[in-house]
Amino acid sequence: MVAHFPGALTQSLKSLVESNKVTLAARFYEHMLADPNASLILSHDEVKNRLGSSMQAWLVKVYSASAEEDFLPLVALQKQVGEVHARIDVPLHLVLSGARNLKKQLFQLIIQQDWPVEARAQALHLSSESMDLAMEIMSHAYSRSHDRNSRNEEGYRLFSVLQNITTERERQRGALLDWENSLMFDLVMGSSGVNLPRLAASDFGLWFRHKGAYAFQNTDESNQILQIIRNMDEVLLPMFLAASETSRMGLLRDIRDQTKSLMFNLDSLFNTANELESGRDVLTRMLNRKFLPVVIGNEITIAQKTGQRFSVLSIDIDHFKSINDNFGHDAGDMILQQTAEILSSHSRAGDYVFRMGGEEFLMILVDINDSNARKVAEKLRRKIEEEKLQLTDSRKHQVTVSIGVATYNGHPDYQHLLRQADQAMYQAKQSGRNRVVAFDEIA
Ligand code: GH3
Ligand code: MG
Ligand code: MG
Repeated sequence: MVAHFPGALTQSLKSLVESNKVTLAARFYEHMLADPNASLILSHDEVKNRLGSSMQAWLVKVYSASAEEDFLPLVALQKQVGEVHARIDVPLHLVLSGARNLKKQLFQLIIQQDWPVEARAQALHLSSESMDLAMEIMSHAYSRSHDRNSRNEEGYRLFSVLQNITTERERQRGALLDWENSLMFDLVMGSSGVNLPRLAASDFGLWFRHKGAYAFQNTDESNQILQIIRNMDEVLLPMFLAASETSRMGLLRDIRDQTKSLMFNLDSLFNTANELESGRDVLTRMLNRKFLPVVIGNEITIAQKTGQRFSVLSIDIDHFKSINDNFGHDAGDMILQQTAEILSSHSRAGDYVFRMGGEEFLMILVDINDSNARKVAEKLRRKIEEEKLQLTDSRKHQVTVSIGVATYNGHPDYQHLLRQADQAMYQAKQSGRNRVVAFDEIA
């Protein structure tokens, strides 16, 4: 695209942007802050300070591309910007409206220049194309990232309702058959109809309408099940009761068919859900790290609304490799399981324990401040140190962990918080292991 424009023109436009970058960036920020949603996200001091300078740098980069240059870094930058926006949940329309505002400012600047009319026209064209292209790439990255987040969110919802998919499936299949049996019994015994077991009020119906439909929302199967429940209670059963002896046989078949179809849809829902069983780490039963963005995103939203803080603990077992080396991988696995067990049994109901992979865990402590989070971390460290863990049937081994603590301080990007917790954990390792370090102490 840039190749279509004379080199001198791209140069002039670049200098124009360069010498006005401070005002342009400031205007952009003012414009964004005028929106209450954006100001909730962007008013953090660190963001405020950084946004100004990174916005300036971004502007110069977007407008300094020349025909000979490699565009890949610029594309990569735009993608990264899109991903960050999706992560911190800045509404896309706001970014686009900010970009439109920037374009307007830039147009005014170009028109005021004493360049030949033709050059000004071309500069308007180039400035507009550059911004549009940047926004196009950014939006693309944004929506991809956003889709990924929504899929994880869906997985998390499923998973939080259905603690154990195999058990739940058997229980619900059983509940549905129980209902069918007692219905058939009543029908054969010639019930008057007043007390016929209604599907919606049966154990299966109650479970599905309240939990199943929530866990499996927006699927065809789920909508069909709800539809069958209604149809059964409101149409088929009343029809059966009102029907003559001869037409009852046909209706009975309909009832059975509908029940079969219920079972079929239910199975198909559970099959999908099975694929999501991987939501829990198989070895330790802790949360899989793929749910971390959803969980931490929820916590940030809660914190923004309530002003409550939460903390992240980055926990790493000390010298774990030597446990594997000396006692074998199975013993290592047992240590991982017991460590996870100690972490989760000493946390509150609202807290989360993730296995991040290997011998690394991450905890989110909700509704807490920095000094209490540090105390909890210290308690966990001590519990693990004190409780000799079982290596094999007869041997025990003392295990220690290093813990980094970071507390949410209003910064909208959760990666920022995770990095702080990791840095603190790394510092705990550096200063001798088996200890807790809070990010505040090293910042
Ligand atoms: P440091 O104190 O610095 O954390 O040392 P470390 O030995 O704990 O750390 P390092 O990262 O060197 O080693 C981690 C080891 O964890 C290496 C890997 O083989 C082992 N590991 C990773 N996942 C598993 C698992 O699922 N089971 C077992 N038994 N070992 C695992
Ligand atoms: Mg490690
Ligand atoms: Mg380790």
